Amino acid sequence: MPELPEVETVRRQLAPQLEGRELRDVQILDPRWTRPGPPAAVEEGLRGARVERLGRRGKYLAWELSGDRHLIVHLRMTGALLYDPPDEPPHARVHFTLGDGHRLVYVDARRFGTGHLFHSAVERDDYLAERIGIEPMTPEFTVEHLQRAARGRRTPAKTFILDQRQIAGVGNIYADEALFRAGIHPLRPAGRLTRAQLARLRDTIEEVLMAGIEAKGATIDDFRHIDGAWGSFQDRFAVHRRKGEPCPVCGRPVRKLVVGGRGTYVCEHCQPRPRRSRAR
Ligand SMILES: [Zn+2]
Repeated sequence: MPELPEVETVRRQLAPQLEGRELRDVQILDPRWTRPGPPAAVEEGLRGARVERLGRRGKYLAWELSGDRHLIVHLRMTGALLYDPPDEPPHARVHFTLGDGHRLVYVDARRFGTGHLFHSAVERDDYLAERIGIEPMTPEFTVEHLQRAARGRRTPAKTFILDQRQIAGVGNIYADEALFRAGIHPLRPAGRLTRAQLARLRDTIEEVLMAGIEAKGATIDDFRHIDGAWGSFQDRFAVHRRKGEPCPVCGRPVRKLVVGGRGTYVCEHCQPRPRRSRAR
């Protein structure tokens, strides 16, 4: 699933193509995209609007449109936005025709992606506030915030940082990589992390997200750039999807565990297991 660095990569590529352009026509071919709202109302609300700014919140692309309209797009598992694809791509779900004649096609094999239209910034912010918490790489992402959020929580550290309502944008890849760099076992209870560990985790979350953005995202399944190219961060994973390979720090084999239902990769030498969960 695209995470913060993948969505930010799409935003950076798409912003110069979209900002200042009119959405001359919009055709939503898959009614699931706008559920529970009807696609016709979303098409109607988008047609003729100008894209003022393409922003991002967590894993959401936030289109700011003229007339205080806001389109919030989530790519979920397999969504991608393709700019001027040479042919009609497979799994096309939404067609945008821009005022300058260029085309944008939203494709999505598994159809979990969403597009929701809001008629004011307040409505949009209410929607996002229910779903996502503090944004990394902003001044609000502090060790104090993490301390408050983690206090008393028995949930494993990995599950804690995957919770979008706590930290926006971190998914399975970047959680494994950040915990590895911080030397924290994914099963360690969040409420048992020391202030020093939380400070390290704050820093390593930002480090891996920035490294991911620099590598233009990671392509494991379907993540694609707007021209169909792949990201390259998957070539730089230290532990994620590297079961049995040597830890880049100590050389011992990387193990795969399941934490909160998610495949989780760990070096149990560099990330010592908490005592109580030794039995798993
Ligand atoms: Zn190691």
